[in-house]
Amino acid sequence: MKYLIVLFLVLKKLSFAQDFTIKNNGNYFKIHEILSQYIQQKSISGNEKAAGEWLKNLCEQNDLFITPMGDKDGNYNFSASVRPLKEGLPNIIFLNHIDVVPVGDSSKWNYPPFSGMIMDGKVWGRGAFDNKGAAMVQLASVIQSVRNYKNNKIPFNITFLAVSCEETQCEGGASYVLKNHFEELNPVLVIGEGPPGFKGILESDTNLLMFGVSVAHKRPLWLKLELELPTSGHGSVTPLEYSNKGMVIALSKVVSEDQPIEFIEVNTQLLKTLGKLENGIKSSALKHPHAFKGILIPKLRERPEVLSLMSNTVTLTSIQSETNTVNLIPTKTTALIDCRLLPNTDKNNFLKSFKKSLDNDSIKVTVIYETPPMLPSSDTTLFYHSISKSIKKSYPSAEVVPVMMPSFNDVGLFRSKGVTCYSYFPILIDSEHFNTITHIHNYDEFIPINYLEMGKNTYDEFLRLLVNPD
Ligand SMILES: [Zn+2]
Repeated sequence: MKYLIVLFLVLKKLSFAQDFTIKNNGNYFKIHEILSQYIQQKSISGNEKAAGEWLKNLCEQNDLFITPMGDKDGNYNFSASVRPLKEGLPNIIFLNHIDVVPVGDSSKWNYPPFSGMIMDGKVWGRGAFDNKGAAMVQLASVIQSVRNYKNNKIPFNITFLAVSCEETQCEGGASYVLKNHFEELNPVLVIGEGPPGFKGILESDTNLLMFGVSVAHKRPLWLKLELELPTSGHGSVTPLEYSNKGMVIALSKVVSEDQPIEFIEVNTQLLKTLGKLENGIKSSALKHPHAFKGILIPKLRERPEVLSLMSNTVTLTSIQSETNTVNLIPTKTTALIDCRLLPNTDKNNFLKSFKKSLDNDSIKVTVIYETPPMLPSSDTTLFYHSISKSIKKSYPSAEVVPVMMPSFNDVGLFRSKGVTCYSYFPILIDSEHFNTITHIHNYDEFIPINYLEMGKNTYDEFLRLLVNPD
């Protein structure tokens, strides 16, 4: 009997040995358990230090080489690599952010937002998806690489790079790392947060499984508009010109003007892929957007999420006047405009035509935030092919398409330095769990547990293809 028990225990241990685990404080945990622990390390933007130290310790315990990269004002950044950075190897970087957005009204959460509750096959809490869930999938694969390649001579390094304040784009996060550690990191490829795969988004083929790998970002150009016009002040006598009136007239021109649709390489590729999956005239129009401009453009304008990939956008996000009193005429009006430019748009040309549409030289236009120009990363590199191959291995019926993201994230900072960057998350969101996406930056954020291991395996395969190409 005793022999049988021992045999059972040995077998049990052997079968467990196949499960991937991460070491923490002398115990071994599965990816979702580590994610649960990480969620419990509160890290709202600007207060990442404690969570960052916890994560750094975790990496250290799993035999990664650590390089601290700044910890001012509550921020915390570090890299954790398979080989020491000082060896100067070309580096494949998995970029992620430690910070999370605030939780809003925590009474609206089913489980406390920092509990990391594991329930119903999901891990719950702020950051479960964005970006702690994605980061733990990356980390699992980097730790796997240490175990696989520790004694091999690999021609590149593999690094997990955790930074602060991606959500607020403060100075102490990725920008700080780029300013102070870019050469040391020696990146040849950066993989950052991006879209997961989806099933069931296309009406004509609900079984279609599509993975977008982001090769480009639109570029934010945020503007402040100010108009100052001294007036008599009392609302009973309407002056011929006053700041609110001038601003509203000018704004109505810029916001009602249609931005031209531009068929550039990165956005037409997506249309062409969709075209292959459609039938009839819809298919022809999508496959040949230039030739079918006439019917395609009005259709595209009906879909803001698609339109945002086809044109520059101009969105009025705030209007304020000096006073907020009904019978007082303010002398100054301010507006904020969120413009997003396609990668090929020249900022100065854009600003010139923007000011022309405003048609009011008294309005002062200031750029309050912008990112440097960045060209799309090529989708013909060995890296891209290996990503595509690895996704197809995990999800055999998947279509992998290069896409552009309408929003900006930290990856863009590396791209603006000429580094090849791809953003994607190799997990598949099926129609049953479609709401995973709607809970990001919202109440009850979660990630299904079985997605995590699949994501890790896909990254593992990608790295394997680079080490031993088929
Ligand atoms: Zn994020």
